[in-house]
Order: sequence, then C-alpha cells, then structure tokens
Amino acid sequence: MQTKQTQNKIISVVLAGNPNCGKTTLFNQLTGSKQYVGNRPGVTVEKRTGKVRSFLERDIYVTDLPGIYSLSPYTPEEIISRNCLLYDEPDVIINIVDASNLERNLYLTTQLAELAKPMVIALNMCDIVEKKGDIIDVGYLERQLGIPVIPISASRNTGIDQLIEKVVSLYDSGKYIIVKNIYSHEVDRSLREIENLFKEIQQNNNTHNRWTAIKLFEGDSVTWGHYKFTKAQKERINMYINKVCASKNTDCEMIIADERYKYICSVTQKAVTRKQPADFISISDKIDGIITNRILAIPIFFIIMLVIFIITFGAPGTFLRDSAQYLITDVFGNAIERILTALNTANWAKSLVVDGIIAGTGSVISFLPQIMLLFTMLSLLEESGYMSRAAFIMDKPLQYIGLSGKAFVPMLLGFGCTVPAVLATRTLENIKSKRMTIMLIPFMSCSAKMPVYMLLISYFFADKGFLVVFAIYLLGITAAILTALLFNNTALKGKKAPFVMELPPYHIPTLKSLKIHVAERMKDFMIKAGTILLGASILIWFLQSFDFSFKMVSPDESMLAIIGKFIAPVFSVCGFGDWRASVSLLTGIAAKESVASTLSVLYNGTSIANTFTPLSAFSFLVFILLYTPCIAALSAIHKEMKSAKWTAVTIIYQIFAAWLASALVFQVGTLILNLI
Ligand code: GDP
Ligand code: MG
Repeated sequence: MQTKQTQNKIISVVLAGNPNCGKTTLFNQLTGSKQYVGNRPGVTVEKRTGKVRSFLERDIYVTDLPGIYSLSPYTPEEIISRNCLLYDEPDVIINIVDASNLERNLYLTTQLAELAKPMVIALNMCDIVEKKGDIIDVGYLERQLGIPVIPISASRNTGIDQLIEKVVSLYDSGKYIIVKNIYSHEVDRSLREIENLFKEIQQNNNTHNRWTAIKLFEGDSVTWGHYKFTKAQKERINMYINKVCASKNTDCEMIIADERYKYICSVTQKAVTRKQPADFISISDKIDGIITNRILAIPIFFIIMLVIFIITFGAPGTFLRDSAQYLITDVFGNAIERILTALNTANWAKSLVVDGIIAGTGSVISFLPQIMLLFTMLSLLEESGYMSRAAFIMDKPLQYIGLSGKAFVPMLLGFGCTVPAVLATRTLENIKSKRMTIMLIPFMSCSAKMPVYMLLISYFFADKGFLVVFAIYLLGITAAILTALLFNNTALKGKKAPFVMELPPYHIPTLKSLKIHVAERMKDFMIKAGTILLGASILIWFLQSFDFSFKMVSPDESMLAIIGKFIAPVFSVCGFGDWRASVSLLTGIAAKESVASTLSVLYNGTSIANTFTPLSAFSFLVFILLYTPCIAALSAIHKEMKSAKWTAVTIIYQIFAAWLASALVFQVGTLILNLI
C-alpha cells in the first residue's frame, strides 16, 4: 500500500548509457531544456539535472550523466557516472540503449543491472531499427534480462510517456533487478562465495554486495582500496578468485568481460531479426570509405572548411552583413540622430548615443547574421556526424605532435568559444595532455574574433575576404601545431593516451536541434552585446571624449589617446603603432568583439583606411588571432590548468607569440612589397 508520503516524495532518476545513444536528446525532451546535443563523445562531461515537465502528478527529477561504455573507474566520465550511481542513490535508473547497436550497448546494461537498483531500459532509436527493416522482440528481451524495456525514439518524442509511467510504477513498487544468469556456473559460485564472505566481514545485508563481489573479482582497484580488509580477509577473497582464474588461465577482468559478452550475444541472437545479412555494407559505411580514406580524408576536410568560408565570407555572407549594416547604421542610426536633433538633445548626449552606443555595439550586432550563417553550417557538420569523422581523421596527425584525436574535440569547440572548449578538456586523462591542449585552444580562432576580421576585410580585402580569413584560421592551426611541438619536447613531455572512438552512423540533422544550436549562440551573442560590449562602447566613448580634467576635447587629446600613445610604440614594428589600434587591443581583453566596437567608435569620422594598409591590417588580424583570450576564457583556463604558474605561462606565451608573429608578418611583408 502506498502512503501519502511516498506519493509526495521527489523521484530522482538518472539517465545512463553509452556516448551518443541519445541521453541528452531524451533529457531535453523530458525537461524541456535546451542542452547541447552533440554527435560525438565528450559533449556532456558534467552531469546536469532538470525537472520532468510532462508528468505533473509527481515531482520527478532527471540527471543526464556523461556517456560511458562501462563502470570501470578509468576516464573522468566513468568516474562521475559511477560515483553518481553508487553514492547519490538515485531512485530509478533509466538505461538508454541504442537499439541499432544493441550488443555494444547491453554491455553497460549488464553492469548497471548489478547495481541492484530499480531500472528500466529505454530502447532508443527505434525509428532507425524500423527503417532498416530489423525487428526487435521486446518481450523476449524483457523476459531474458528481467528488466522492463520501453521502446522509444527520443528525437521523435515517441514512447516517452510510457517510459515515465514505468519509472513511476517501478519507484512505487520498489522492485529492483539482478540479472542472475549472466555468468557461468563456476564464476557464479565464486561470486556468491565472495559475496557471502563480504557480507560476513561487513556485517550487513545491503544490495550492493553482489556488485562489490563482482568488482573485487575483477580486481577493481577503487573497490579493493575502499574496504580496509585485513591480510587474512584478503587472502580468503583471493582464494575464491584464484580458484577460477587459475583454472581458466586468464586474468579475472577478462573472464567477467568475456562472459558478459557471451551472455549478451546469446540474448540478442534470439531477440533481433535482421533484414540485412551481417556483412551488409550500409550507406554510412560507403560514405565513410571515401571520407575517412587514408589519402582523401584530409584534403576533403580542408575543402569542406574552404567551402564554408566561401559561403560565410564570400557573397552570401557579405550580402547578409551589408543588409544588416544598412538597417542598423543607415536606417536606425540616422533615424535616432534625427530624433535627438529634433528634441534638441545636448551635444554630448547625442554623441554618446550615436558615436558611442550605435557605432560601437551596433557595428558588432550587424555581424550577427553572418556569424549565424557560419554556425548553422558548423552545426550541420556536427549533427550529420561528420565532426566525429574529423576527430577520427585528425587522430594520426595529432599523434605526431603528442596529442590524440580526443584532444581534437575541445580544439574544435575552440572555433566556437574558448570557454566550453577549455572545459571539454576534462575528458583528457592526464594533466599534461590537458595542459597542452588548453594552451593550444586559444589559437583556434573563436567566433568572437570574427567581427574584427569582418570589419577589417570589409575595408581592405573586399572580394578576397574569405581567403584572408581562411589564411588566418590556418595560421592559428599552424601556431597550435608549433606550440604543441615546442611543449611536447620540453615541459609537457608525456605519455600518449590511446584513443578509442566510435563513428556514429550519419544522421540527417533535425531542424529542432539545429535551431537549438543556433538560437543558443544568438542568445549568448546578444547578451554579450547588451552588457560587456555596450559597457565597453560607453566607456571608450567617455575616455575618448574627455581629458583627465573631464573637459570635452577632441579624441587626439583625450585620456584614451594618452593611454594609447603610451603603449603604441611597442606595436610600431608590427605596423599598427597607432594609439587607437593599441587601445582597441586592450578592450579586447574584456571581450574580443570589443576590438571591433572600439575601432568603430574611435575611427568614426577618420576612416580606418587612412591608418592601416592592407599589410598592417593583416598583421593586426594576426595579432588578434594569437593574443591572450578574453577574461572569461582566462578564468576558465586558470580553473582547468589547476596551476597559477601554467596560467601565467599561457598568458605571457600568447602575448609574445602574437607580437612576434605579427611583427614577422609585417616586416617580411614589407620586404617583399619593396622587392616587387
Ligand atoms: P548522448 O551522447 O547520449 O547525449 O546523445 P545525444 O542526445 O547527443 O544524441 C546523439 C545523436 O543521436 C544526435 O544527433 C541525436 O539527434 C540523435 N538521436 C537521439 N535520439 C534519436 C532517435 O530516437 N532517433 C534518431 N534517428 N536519432 C536520435
Ligand atoms: Mg550528451
């Protein structure tokens, strides 16, 4: 009988499953949240929790765990998930299983089942199975495993209600499962002996005991370390283990893994009826034959990137930008100016609005449509499954510089924003490759730098803009490679971690997840424009309109000019010793877009074209590309480096690298221009 109390209690549910099985998609469906759905491992590194919105009668909270293949405590994802499952005591586990990859996914299921918790299997991606023409006998699966199985499709939102109803009824009944018949008779007997002994030692009868017995059998170091067994107890446990291991002549972890796989095969063989024979080559495999081909892979990667740049910075992107600029400056800006004049507003106030806010923030906002275009295309690549291939392709080249394909994922995120990219390095096992990857990430040109590129190419490189930006991106990658080589052979020399990753089949991207990706970026961008950029624009306007005695003066005599002129000489060798350029670089520490808004405020009236040449504009862009990232990124770097020394090294190294590279570009460029 249920009491009122249990009815009112919060039900905590965790989503556990392999990477890419659709956990985050289901989480978003359940909670109505807009978490990042990614078609590659490493996207969800931390767990997050939300309330189920569709089931109003009860308070159900779900937690999205990072994807894992097993519960062994090796990678950070495995540790987070395992600790949550073991110690946070969730009420119900939803084990998401990719139905199109049943064998591999059930491996984790067998381990989860040993936790002896109420559990339900959400058999996801049923739409794919159906499309392939395969049939899964859900009833058989349920009977064999002893775990309820609910077929769903997270992305199409089918079966979700049944799933939640099952969760509630499982919770109310408090039933949990242990799959009994996984192991051979011999292993099972040994496990029971260990379990009994453990019960005796611990003087308890808790449901974790079987799980602990299996972990002890496997030689799981965390479990062995956790219980302070006496020498005699250890010997007795080992005696039971050795009886089996010696007779089978392999290591114990292998025996368990092997028996789990055998069990899974026997179950799936009967549960799944395939339309295609096992050796059938799918379209996905055929595409991969070309895209991950040894010789073609890297050229294809660069061609795809080039096409994206041509679209973003060529005619289509330029058209979007020009339209937005026309609307913001010509239509909106002029209208505001006329209104302010008609209202007889004081000169300083008019200047604040027109030369400060509209020129600064407005100039950056006008790049928004172009940036959205770029993000839409990158999301398409990500959603379709290409990005996983890119990480796979890049594994080999990255090995040469002492990293693995795993480091490619954070680096790729770096093209969007350094902050999440730095956080994503949590998937890397050792601190050395982590520190090295963090040092490289800022060289991956983040999207905030784009308005600066766009501003300058619109003045100097009109129709060749896409080539200039492509060159800048390649330069960033080159700088990253050189840095890796430098540090790999010196301070951060370390062991290479093996890289295992699966290639998910290609997906046709859904409009919904595309919209989530792009809308999220847009929101971030607008928030930044409304806060940091607006503030910086007003501050810059103020500093350039007044001198130190707060008299309104011409920009050349302002406070800002005095500060700028103090720094500027350092940049003379780079070709941009103008005080306004130096000041803009300073504001870039707050946010990179600020460089563009500052330039727009400061050069209002005097054209940028009079100060820069195409060459010095390019060397300026090189500096922007390489120098220290913004303050938000720096704090993320500091947090993840876990060392003040390494944070300082990173900052100094980046400023110096930027200065050196842009000085080289300018000096060598000048030499060449003089020769021809
Ligand atoms: P996670 O790594 O487990 O969090 O997986 P995600 O939620 O990020 O999903 C991985 C990919 O699978 C995404 O491209 C989703 O759009 C896709 N996906 C998720 N559920 C389904 C489904 O039921 N059917 C199909 N066809 N695709 C799905
Ligand atoms: Mg996820």
